[in-house]
Formats: sequence, structure tokens, C-alpha cells
Amino acid sequence: MIGMECDVLVIGAGILGLSSAYHIKRENPGKNVAVIDKHGGPGQGNSAKSEGGFRNLFTSETNFLLADSTIDWFKHMEEELGHHIGLSYIGYLFLLNEEHYTGQKESWDRIRDHGGEMRVLDREELEEMIPGLVTHFGDDEEAELLGLNPVDYGVFGKKCGCIDADALTRAYEAEFLNLGGEIHYGTEAKSLTLEPEQELEIPGEPFVWQDAHITGAETTQGKIRADTTVVAAGVWSEGLLDPLGVDSFMRPKKRQLFVFKDPRLESLFNVEGFNEYGTMPLTILPKAGVLFRPERSENTIWLACADNLGRKYELEEDPQAEEGFYTESIYHILVKYFPCFEGVRPMNSWAGQYAINGYDELPVVTPAPGMIYVGAASGSGIMKCDSIARIAAALYAGREEAELYGGRRFRVADLGIHNRNVERESLIL
Ligand SMILES: Cc1cc2nc3c(=O)[nH]c(=O)nc-3n(C[C@H](O)[C@H](O)[C@H](O)COP(=O)(O)OP(=O)(O)OC[C@H]3O[C@@H](n4cnc5c(N)ncnc54)[C@H](O)[C@@H]3O)c2cc1C
Repeated sequence: MIGMECDVLVIGAGILGLSSAYHIKRENPGKNVAVIDKHGGPGQGNSAKSEGGFRNLFTSETNFLLADSTIDWFKHMEEELGHHIGLSYIGYLFLLNEEHYTGQKESWDRIRDHGGEMRVLDREELEEMIPGLVTHFGDDEEAELLGLNPVDYGVFGKKCGCIDADALTRAYEAEFLNLGGEIHYGTEAKSLTLEPEQELEIPGEPFVWQDAHITGAETTQGKIRADTTVVAAGVWSEGLLDPLGVDSFMRPKKRQLFVFKDPRLESLFNVEGFNEYGTMPLTILPKAGVLFRPERSENTIWLACADNLGRKYELEEDPQAEEGFYTESIYHILVKYFPCFEGVRPMNSWAGQYAINGYDELPVVTPAPGMIYVGAASGSGIMKCDSIARIAAALYAGREEAELYGGRRFRVADLGIHNRNVERESLIL
């Protein structure tokens, strides 16, 4: 490894690094593309910690496009490329009160306009389909104290569901290796190297008057030189970019997942009318961003909470789930809407970090001299990975447009910074 040289060095073997490496290599079979990761295997940063949810219901047309064509690609990966990635169209169900539904009417119309297939259910329909759901709380004082919203409507997205994020990351790894790509695990980039275009061999280079570019990285296994360095290091990207004065346009924030396996939750696996498996869809409660979904392969329920305000931005190397966060914050809300959770405690839990672009909540694919930065996936990098990677590959090739899976075209600069052209997302989880 010491003294290694390659055409493209990708830093990070998460979903965005491996999918970008795959598409760059696929388009440039003659180029030597190498991926490094500080961990011992793929997806060990945040990708494998994901809930694996995917949806094409987004208010931003850009987000819709990125996710919709990635979802089509998932199908291709499973059905035609033969990867077992656990693709499961369970659907997404947003439970809403009257005020929120009508207040967001414009957003729902916008989603429908750009092709998001959805069905609106009223309270009676929901009660009939989900007998275990409590929609109104009458004079329940605790519900009033908790400020719980009633359920008046459900918005159900069909082209939505979940995927095994770990298997998906490994599928990209396998495809990349099949093409002859190289991966070096256990290799950490300590810093990016910045060198002058024309070296004068004077100590202290590059000086401000020299044109400089990134030429690879100093790693724990020695220096790696590359014509192009792709930084896809997720929440750790700022550690590489900050020292060079390059912005990562994201901040890390903890997200937790709680897993339940309990016979009392059996009813959630016996709900007709939403999907072919007869389970609840990924369901978003009308309060506090609490959401859960069934994991059919193991008969478990995975639950998360989009706790934004009050949850600090902070880079954590090994974030942990907080038991009290479930018992003190989530449980009281959850059990009011779904009493089947009464007395049920998580059998497992973990935490990871979102790389949040708080400005427009969309990913960033942007160049710097000798480098491409791919990141700021803002909590939805799994469901948009293939499109993001194709855009990175198009940027590498110097093309103005990328062709997403299925043939739809995307202007590469739209996800960049200087000529960014995206619509802020308002349906954030
Ligand atoms: C709890 C949770 C639930 C989520 N749920 C969903 C969901 O339902 N749907 C969805 O689409 N998304 C979800 N996400 C978000 C999704 O997981 C991320 O958007 C996605 O994994 C980001 O991929 P990445 O490749 O940018 O980052 P990562 O997967 O973190 O990859 C970055 C890689 O870079 C490596 N690295 C970092 N620094 C260095 C260095 N200096 N040298 C070498 N290697 C380095 C790391 O080891 C890591 O493997 C969730 C995230 C969390 C935490």
C-alpha cells in the first residue's frame, strides 16, 4: 500500500462511497479505482445502522427524482442482478390530524403532481383497516397533557417500503469488486494531500500564488496518490475537508433505533389492505416524529424518532442508544396510539448519525480541485444512493448531465454548491 497510486481514490466504503465507486468504475473500466475505509468491512459507519426505509413521497421534485429512480434500481438489483437486498414494498403511512393534513395540502398536491402515487384514507377507513389504532382520545387527560393530535387522515405511499441497508451496501461492494475495483479496509485517511500543479520542490509548497489541487491522502497505511479523490466519508467528511478550508455542508446528529420482538405486537403483522404481506406499513405517528415499521424477516418492529429540536449537533465516534429516550419520551406517545405496545420493552437498540444539510435537506455532490465531495445525505442516503452515485460519476466524467436509472436526466450542477438548483424539502423525517 505504501506509495500506492490510482486514478480514483474513494474515501469511505459506506453506501455513497461504494455506489459512487461502482458507477465510476462501470463507466471507466480502464481506470484504477480504489476504495479505502477505516473500518474492517463495508457500511460500518452509518449505512448498516440505517432503518432502511425508502419512499418516493417528497415535496422537492429533486428528492422525488433521486429516490424514485433509486427505488427502480433496487428492483433491478434484486430481480435482475440477483442480490438479496430484502426489498419489501410495505408502503409508508403518514397519520395526520385535520389541521396538518389540510395545512400540508399544497405539499401533497405537489407530490402528486410530480408522480408520487398516494392514497388518502379518512378516519373511518383507517379504523376499519387498523383495528389496533386509537384515533381519538376523548377526555383522556394524559393524552391532553402530552398534546396528542387525533388521527383524522392517513396518507399512504405505495412505492415505498424498506430494504436491508447492510445487504444493499454489500451488493454494491460485490458489483464493484466484480468490475475489478480495489478495496482496502482498515485504512484510515488521516488527511488529504494538497500539492501545487507544478512542483518547484521548495519547502512550504503550495504557496498561495501556486495553483494547487488535492492529490490523494495520507493514510494509516502510507500515502495514496490519486488523480481524483472522492470524499464520501459521511459524518466524518468534515474532519478531512475542514483543514483544507473546504465545506462539508452538513452537521452530524444522533439518530436511534429500537427493536421489539413481542407476541403482543403480532397484530401489526396482521393488517390487510396496505401491502401484499398483510403487515402495517412504515407508519409515522402524528406526534413527535415517532415512526415504526415491521421487519418481516425476523418478526420484529423497528422504531425511530425524528427528534430534531433539542437534539444537539455533535460528531460522535460511537453513539449509543439511550434507554431513557424510549421509556421517557417515545413510549407514552406510542402506547396511546397503539396500545399493543403496553409494557413492551426493546430487545435491542443502536444509534448512528445523520449527516444533515440543514439548509435544504438535500444531498451534495460538488467538486473542488482534484476532488469530488459526495455527502450530506440528510438521513436519506440509502433511498437515493444510486442516483447520487450516478451524478458523482457524471461529475467525474465532466458531463453536464447524469442519466439516472430508467433514463431520466439530471443536471449535475443542481446538486453542487455554486449553481445549486434544488427545492427545499418539507416532508422531513
Ligand atoms: C439510525 C439511522 C436510521 C436511518 N434510516 C434511514 C432510512 O430509513 N432510509 C435512508 O435512506 N437513510 C437512512 N439513514 C441515513 C443513511 O444511513 C445515511 O444517509 C447513509 O448511510 C449515508 O451514507 P454515507 O456513505 O454517506 O455514510 P457512511 O455509511 O457513514 O459511510 C462513510 C464511511 O466512511 C468511512 N470513513 C470515515 N472517515 C474515514 C477516513 N478518514 N478514512 C477512511 N474511511 C473513513 C466510515 O468508516 C464509513 O464507512 C439512517 C441513518 C441512521 C443513523
